Amino acid sequence: MLDRFERYPLTFGPTPIERLDRLSAHLGGAVQIYAKREDCNSGLAFGGNKLRKLEYIVPDAIASGADTLVTIGGIQSNHTRLVAATAARLGMKCRLVQEHWAPFEDPVYDRVGNIMLSRLMGADIELVDEGFDIGIRESWERAIEDVKAKGGKPYPIPAGASVHKYGGLGFVGFAEEVRAQEAELGFPFDYVVVCTVTGSTHAGMLVGFAKDGRADRVIGIDASATLEQTRAQVMDIARNTADLVGLGRDITDEDLVLMSGYAHPAYGVPSEETNEAIRLVAQLEGMMTDPVYEGKSMQGLIDLVQKGTFPAGSRILYAHLGGVPAINAYSSIYGGG
Ligand SMILES: *Cc1c(COP(=O)(O)O)cnc(C)c1O
Repeated sequence: MLDRFERYPLTFGPTPIERLDRLSAHLGGAVQIYAKREDCNSGLAFGGNKLRKLEYIVPDAIASGADTLVTIGGIQSNHTRLVAATAARLGMKCRLVQEHWAPFEDPVYDRVGNIMLSRLMGADIELVDEGFDIGIRESWERAIEDVKAKGGKPYPIPAGASVHKYGGLGFVGFAEEVRAQEAELGFPFDYVVVCTVTGSTHAGMLVGFAKDGRADRVIGIDASATLEQTRAQVMDIARNTADLVGLGRDITDEDLVLMSGYAHPAYGVPSEETNEAIRLVAQLEGMMTDPVYEGKSMQGLIDLVQKGTFPAGSRILYAHLGGVPAINAYSSIYGGG
């Protein structure tokens, strides 16, 4: 589906799929859970899902003649870390706007984890006192103008690399990769579980799996806590991406499965259930998840399995999208284990 599009490699290649046998057994053994390890996809600054998206955005950035990548996120944004890493790899400058998206206090919140890595990679970081919003922000537009005013040539990348014309392509590629891996494994997955916030990860998967009629087998777990805005943004990106790749059919509301109920109390703030899920998977599988994204999608997966949502015998692919560096900024919760 992506042959027409230029891709700049930032990842190692297809990501591994592994069985989570002890988690599956712990949850009763009726379904088999697998993880696709997008969190281990690259040597660039610990990797993660944003790199698949950036692989299809970078050729456009290079062609534009830009010298500075400009993007935005929360203080512990994984996306801004990976844009900083991409800029370093390309020999470009990086300008980051980081806002107070998570109503969470920790003595080292703006000193460790993702933001520390971005600073080490040479990004020019501006902290802005604004709350969470997945849409287009004025602070980001101001930063783009500021780069221009100082004689630079900015290339704007929106939050999460989502609302960009090519933002959905990377995860169309994920679906194609899963199809190839299914052929090797000798079975298809019945469901894919994914964390959804700015929307292009889910949207890309939805379009990629629509090709073989499985769009609604992608189960999005909302971690934004702004469900309707996220739903609308996923639909927009999915429609745009379907047009771009020539899917040949419309994306409908029925294609989008987005579960609420796991994002509380707020974006970037874990609940007791989130923390239980993080500890459970760490202790059963040695697999780390974070309190902002993957801990919540894991919480959702566990809850849906426990409620019997998936028929017995189902094979469920958990897309592990990365995000673990943020855990350092939650030392007040996890410092003691
Ligand atoms: C960005 C991110 C997500 C959400 O992906 P979207 O494309 O923004 O919906 C999930 N998990 C991690 C670790 C992320 O960094």
